[in-house]
Amino acid sequence: MKTIQLKSRPEGKPTLSNFEFVEEDKSLTISDGEILLEAAYVSVDPYLRGRMNDAKSYVPPFKLNEPVHSGVVAKVLESKNEKFQVGDYVSGMLNWSRQQVSDGEGLNKVDSEKAPLSTYLGVLGMTGLTAYLGFTEIGKPKEGETIVVSGAAGAVGSVVGQIAKILGLRVIGIAGTDEKIEMLKSKFGFDEGINYNTTKDMKSAIAEAAPDGVDVYFDNVGGPISDAVLFSINRFARIIICGAISVYNETEIPKSISVQPFLIKNSALMQGFIVSNYAEKFPEAIQKLSGWLAEEKLTYTETIVDGFDNIPQAFIDLFEGKNKGKMIVKI
Ligand code: NDP
Repeated sequence: MKTIQLKSRPEGKPTLSNFEFVEEDKSLTISDGEILLEAAYVSVDPYLRGRMNDAKSYVPPFKLNEPVHSGVVAKVLESKNEKFQVGDYVSGMLNWSRQQVSDGEGLNKVDSEKAPLSTYLGVLGMTGLTAYLGFTEIGKPKEGETIVVSGAAGAVGSVVGQIAKILGLRVIGIAGTDEKIEMLKSKFGFDEGINYNTTKDMKSAIAEAAPDGVDVYFDNVGGPISDAVLFSINRFARIIICGAISVYNETEIPKSISVQPFLIKNSALMQGFIVSNYAEKFPEAIQKLSGWLAEEKLTYTETIVDGFDNIPQAFIDLFEGKNKGKMIVKI
């Protein structure tokens, strides 16, 4: 049984040395009410970086020398739990282990006939829910408005932009390579794209791409990119603070412009968002997302990395922008 544990807390950018592969010889046995699971797909997510710090947050930090866990789709190999049959696939928060025993608590059955298994970690999983609920609940979009999405070519951002197009908004995406910008326009139907790595003056580029101003900003990255967007917000703009990947690896508190004057003069709303706060709306959101997928109004892309041993590197690569769409490891 192979497991990946957190060996040390990253200082700055995570490295492979922060993780340890632990192999235990003993075979796993299950008791009444339990199931034996084999991992099929493992989700790596930027938010896991926060859990690697020893700091108070909305979820407790990972403990050292214990397995890291994240969203996993796994196959039921043995079952002494009447809710699960051998051969079922389940999804939920599970350890970075090839095999593990679970009591089934918090696991949902997923259907590989209805959708590819990996999508339950992406467009039909946590990142799809984040996109839909963050955008609709806080963004309160209206047809004809303009939205800017940062981290636009990633799992959450690419879905936000497409939902915005479905709802009739003008969509501007910010991402880190020309190839990603091209994908935003050709695959996901964004109206405009800005490569923040090659654009010297982000403030002017955003103003140019949004001549009528920005009504909704879906923020996945924080930092200077988000500062630049603030200069273009309209009156009553809504700003969804979903993620801040540009600062997750900072060791000192980053300098940022003061947001208050922008919010005051525009009567704008800026609100932090955590997807788990909206659990009662998950069924409605999944129904919407699956409906749009079936109608081919919504599509998705995934970066699938092969092999259990590559989970830590896939996680680290998120901070280098190596993924397009959802980063997933196939076991
Ligand atoms: P992504 O698929 O977007 O992957 C991360 C992307 O971030 C990379 O591909 C890279 O793209 C970009 N990135 C990396 N470093 C930087 C940087 N320094 N500045 C700007 N962009 C950078 O991840 P997710 O879609 O899973 O998550 C997106 C954001 O949403 C994250 O911040 C995450 O923490 C947050 N999130 C929040 C949730 C919530 O409930 N609040 C739930 C899920 C996610 P590029 O090439 O464009 O730089």
